[in-house]
Amino acid sequence: MKNLDKIIDGKYYADKLLKKVHPLCENFFLKFNRKICLAVILVGEDPASRVYVKNKLLTAEKNNIKSIEIILPTETSEDELHKEIVSLNEDMTVDGILVQLPLPKHISEKNVINSIDPNKDVDGFHPINFGKLYMGNPNFIPCTPLGCLYVIKNELKQITGKHAVIIGRSNIVGKPMASLLLSSNCTVTIAHSKTKNLKEHCIRADILIAAVGCPEMIDDTYVKKDAIVVDVGINRLEPSEENKKSKLVGDVNFTKVINKVKKITPVPGGVGPMTIACLMHNTVKAAYKNEGQNFIDILEGYL
Ligand code: NDP
Repeated sequence: MKNLDKIIDGKYYADKLLKKVHPLCENFFLKFNRKICLAVILVGEDPASRVYVKNKLLTAEKNNIKSIEIILPTETSEDELHKEIVSLNEDMTVDGILVQLPLPKHISEKNVINSIDPNKDVDGFHPINFGKLYMGNPNFIPCTPLGCLYVIKNELKQITGKHAVIIGRSNIVGKPMASLLLSSNCTVTIAHSKTKNLKEHCIRADILIAAVGCPEMIDDTYVKKDAIVVDVGINRLEPSEENKKSKLVGDVNFTKVINKVKKITPVPGGVGPMTIACLMHNTVKAAYKNEGQNFIDILEGYL
């Protein structure tokens, strides 16, 4: 297999999913005489967060989903943010609520996530949705791991019995990813910063998922031949003597690893577009449920 054939095109998979999401948005408008509505709250000036929010809103617009963008200054208090969320919770025309993370240090992310109506929690971070996922009865699933699962199941027709190693145990990526793969009958290892002999675990993985936030830390010595590698990391390298411009890299050293693996997601253009497509999917699901409709989940077959 040529190296080019080994690259998993996240944009292709995102478009594949959005092609199914789009008609549901159109049908919703015809049926309920209003657009599906996603509210996004951004607190502070973090440039990366601004880019993520912009991309989410652009994709929403392209899919006929109305968006409400609420930008609050860094010094916003937790109480003020809470009031914004309560108002969106009570607004029947708002279907999904997303608070862009990270929040400024003086605001508790836990309290903020807890205050979002679980039926509008399109990020899937609320403890009720988290618990449902772990119980094997998912409602809203966090977008990044959901996107990773979609890609993995499209690439590997049979994942039962595969050994998946996830590096990272965050509530946003690592833990829900582990739960999804466990439900898909993988044997799952979760590694983290206190894991001893990380390489020995990784080298045994049929499916290796890197969600660490350390630029290019995974090289070919961590990877089994013909493994599937999903690189969740997004790290910005500032300009240096070698590279005049800043650039985005993943947690995996793509150039070293690609020769050894069966398939790999690039950064950018891998997991990122799938995360946004899954957000649209979750928003559509929330909207139909908000109108009391029995939503047949287009991702049901992947769970
Ligand atoms: P967190 O910082 O919350 O978690 C990182 C995890 O990596 C932790 O569990 C940490 O362990 C573990 N870790 C850190 N250093 C090491 C190490 N040297 N060896 C092994 N494990 C280590 O990050 P997130 O989960 O939120 O995000 C991870 C990456 O994914 C980031 O680069 C982020 O930008 C990116 N991301 C990309 C998304 C996308 O759409 N593509 C969406 C979300 C995130 P411990 O728990 O012990 O601290």
